[in-house]
Amino acid sequence: MSHGEDGCELLVLSGADIRALVSTAECVELIDAAMRTVSSGGAILPLRNWVKIPGTTNLVGWMPGFLDAPPRIGVKLIGIFPENPHRGLPSHCGIVTLFDPELGLPRAVLDAATITSMRTAAASAVATRALARTGAGDLAILGTGEQAEAHLHALAVIGRLRRVRLWGRDPDKARQLAQRTGAALGLDIEVMAGVAQAVAGADVICTVTAAREPILRGEWVAPGTHVNLVGASVVEAREADEALVLRSAYFVDYRPSAAAQAGELHAAVGPEGARDGRHVRGEIGEVLSGRVPGRTHADEVTVYKSLGIAAQDLALAGAAYERARALGRGTRARL
Ligand code: NDP
Repeated sequence: MSHGEDGCELLVLSGADIRALVSTAECVELIDAAMRTVSSGGAILPLRNWVKIPGTTNLVGWMPGFLDAPPRIGVKLIGIFPENPHRGLPSHCGIVTLFDPELGLPRAVLDAATITSMRTAAASAVATRALARTGAGDLAILGTGEQAEAHLHALAVIGRLRRVRLWGRDPDKARQLAQRTGAALGLDIEVMAGVAQAVAGADVICTVTAAREPILRGEWVAPGTHVNLVGASVVEAREADEALVLRSAYFVDYRPSAAAQAGELHAAVGPEGARDGRHVRGEIGEVLSGRVPGRTHADEVTVYKSLGIAAQDLALAGAAYERARALGRGTRARL
């Protein structure tokens, strides 16, 4: 059966469209609202799944979801090819497809690389705003890829940054990122030679690398620090050691994902402990809505384990789509 004359028009939104339609600051508020919705039972989020290409670390994943306020339903399809940056291509490429929640028609296709980098960094900003000490302004970023850049932008919108340190395993990449982002944000970003130096005494640490083995040790993290663990998104990978997880007040984006896929948690408390959630203080949405206490004292080390959830993709994609329709932006296609 055909879709009829006006039945199925798709709006295609590029990365440039999305960035023009939703600012970093607006994205932070969208993600804040989405995380509250998730933790109050207003989302359906089947676990992320993927096909792996044998003999490589390359995979194509899919993340379906439903969010009830405002209603969004859709799926992200994303290729993760970690070596792509060495070919001049992004490591994360794909599409977010939004469906009409009443009619079931596909309505929009959006660039998933942009959605992913903006929403992930915004989620870390939301967690930092909720869990870091008051006045936290000393930031350390570990990693020099797309997420590192997005995190610098997102962390800069939630409060004044007094000091920013950056570490990457490739010092040239670190220098280039420090220069480019420092100029864009009006910040002096210091490039550090080692992780321990980069994080010493920091108020906030973000790990945004594709490392499979820990690069951050708990013994290097000062009392009172807030840490966003972002880079390891499969259970076999971890960026921080057991010591950090065990000494921390440990928060997650979504309990079922953490139970199944949080590598650092699995290593620290074992698969059984990860599944029963005994070390998880709460979801960030529970903290935001006041149902679970966040930081309890100034010397507490807090960790936010970010695995990324479709609710975040849908919240940002939905807002970009609605604005694009209102402003006549994007490319129309008809099925
Ligand atoms: P990029 O490919 O753009 O950057 C990857 C970064 O990790 C580079 O700085 C790279 O260094 C570094 N790196 C790779 N391996 C190691 C290692 N063994 N030790 C130290 N550094 C290493 O990726 P993104 O910035 O887009 O993503 C970063 C990570 O975050 C990925 O693992 C990704 O899967 C994850 N991610 C998590 C999300 C979430 O919601 N939690 C969402 C999106 C991504 P070099 O340049 O030298 O190779």
